[in-house]
Amino acid sequence: MTDSNRIAPDQLPRPGFASIPRYSGGVPAEVELSDNTNQWGTPPAATAVLRAGFDVSRYPDMYGDSLKRTIAKMAGFSPECVVTGNGSDDVLDCVIRAFASPGDTIAHPDPTFVMLPVFSRINGITPVPVPLAADFSMDADALLATNARIIYLCSPNNPTGTPTSADTIRRIIANARGLVLLDEAYAEFTGLPGFLAEAPALERVVVCRTLSKAYGLAGLRVGYAAASAKIVEIIEKSRGPFKLNSMAERAAVEALTTDADWVAAHVREAIASRDRLAGALRAMGLAPLPSVANFLLVPTPRAFAIAKSLRTRGISIRPFRALPGIGDALRITAAPWPVMERALAALRDAS
Ligand code: PMP
Repeated sequence: MTDSNRIAPDQLPRPGFASIPRYSGGVPAEVELSDNTNQWGTPPAATAVLRAGFDVSRYPDMYGDSLKRTIAKMAGFSPECVVTGNGSDDVLDCVIRAFASPGDTIAHPDPTFVMLPVFSRINGITPVPVPLAADFSMDADALLATNARIIYLCSPNNPTGTPTSADTIRRIIANARGLVLLDEAYAEFTGLPGFLAEAPALERVVVCRTLSKAYGLAGLRVGYAAASAKIVEIIEKSRGPFKLNSMAERAAVEALTTDADWVAAHVREAIASRDRLAGALRAMGLAPLPSVANFLLVPTPRAFAIAKSLRTRGISIRPFRALPGIGDALRITAAPWPVMERALAALRDAS
């Protein structure tokens, strides 16, 4: 091949791909309150699985069948209605590329989970941000008006922590042109059932969950979704085999079954800590949004300066810039109260 026929090195990536950001969360801190994980640790039965040791010379189950059966039994539908993944990140990515073609649109609330527009662009799909309603819920009419191929919903929403009512979600499902992808990563903290059990019967809905938050298994990367068997078959083509490793599958099954009481108890503790933290922040003159998740979003023009100051004390909280309708803000994960006190003392010093 002559040099003139060769693609120049800087032209090798897919057109437009170079402008997609490489996600970076910074170096983990001693006290990590930036990622909404379980601050009480990993549940005991799952820990015992990890300690037991494994023969990993063989491949794991192709589609994580034991986890599919466990989730299906708990939710009351058939295992064909569950897809597993390497974190719910993976599930979201697989859904987006299977249900929208390059050039299609995906409507999403703004602000929402930061990776959503990134996964869309990686797959050549155009994200269409739609501001939240005045009460920080999803704006059904505005989302529907986009006529998008996929509507992504997140309830409770990240980073706001705010819920969207079941009626609003139902209205979106009833009127959407295409697929509705409902992210329920924080559902366990709401005390409400969410849409998981209903998803298979709703023909255009995928409900996505994770074991990274309430279940304390973020490091194992386990996510899943429920949908009709027809939809799951399509997602599994996009997913491909062996996404869930064998240790993660075994530990996830234990966490969902044997560790259920531990998880429920620590969800209650996270909620109590969150509400106590909200009270302490209000006493400092701040106004955290009304969260139903395991974190608080705190609007403040000094978000970045405060986050930087806390970093020097080994505490990581997540600053956000210019969120629509909110401005700069800090997101703080609920943790055991002594940890919250340490964060509060640092916040008082930084304010
Ligand atoms: N959805 C939402 C709303 C999230 O906040 C997160 C994690 N920050 C994820 C999905 C991805 O979680 P994971 O890949 O760990 O399951």
